Amino acid sequence: KMKIENVHKSFDQSSVLRGITTSISEKEATVIIGPSGSGKSTLLRCLNRLESINEGTIYLDDQSFMDIPIQKLRTRVGMVFQSFNLFPHLSVMKNLLLAPTKLQTSKSKDELMELGYSLLDKVGMKEKAESYPEELSGGQQQRVAIARALMMEPEVMLFDEVTSALDPERVNDVLETMKDLAKSGMTMVIVTHEMGFAREVGDKIIFMDQGVIVEEGTPEEVFGNSKEDRTKAFLRNVL
Ligand code: ATP
Ligand code: MG
Repeated sequence: KMKIENVHKSFDQSSVLRGITTSISEKEATVIIGPSGSGKSTLLRCLNRLESINEGTIYLDDQSFMDIPIQKLRTRVGMVFQSFNLFPHLSVMKNLLLAPTKLQTSKSKDELMELGYSLLDKVGMKEKAESYPEELSGGQQQRVAIARALMMEPEVMLFDEVTSALDPERVNDVLETMKDLAKSGMTMVIVTHEMGFAREVGDKIIFMDQGVIVEEGTPEEVFGNSKEDRTKAFLRNVL
């Protein structure tokens, strides 16, 4: 689905991604783990061009990013962040409708509403369609944010630590929502510190450190049988 070839990214003098090469397979959940500052968020942001890259190439379905208009790319690759950024003055449903209405998709308002309700149902938030963000818990807001990203019917969904700002008792609802999405065959790239979740849901695990991929493989390979000392040391610390 996506190919990432020799991607380099620097901010000023500091080199944050130093030759990332990997692939994101269709209908799989690819989970990126690694210490703070290793470049996970930066890599994710490069995958929907929130950041430009200094060197290398990224492909979506064999089409180089350079050949895809940025607005088009952003509808094809959706992203959900740690902070949910719902618009506080808009109801849940209006939050969902905003971007697709603005971008003049081929769908009518009624079709968009119908899609909105079905996605809210999918994330267990259908009853809250008319509520405002402040009336929802953090976990509920995050599930709305996921539904909102799905409104564009993206081909790939990126998740950057979507549970790390949540109260512990709210984390599971959001993880369950993501599990369902993975089961439904969505192509996902997930940055998370939830190792149990990574192991359970990941089809492929990528361990990053200091801007490079140290090791990647199945959950069994990376968690159960890691080859690299750096991976072992990291897992010893977080597990
Ligand atoms: P965490 O687990 O803490 O979220 P991360 O792996 O997501 O860490 P990144 O956010 O990708 O790490 O940051 C990698 C490095 O790039 C850090 O040293 C960070 O300071 C630097 N960096 C990230 N964004 C910028 C920016 N906009 N300007 C300058 N430096 C940046
Ligand atoms: Mg990060």
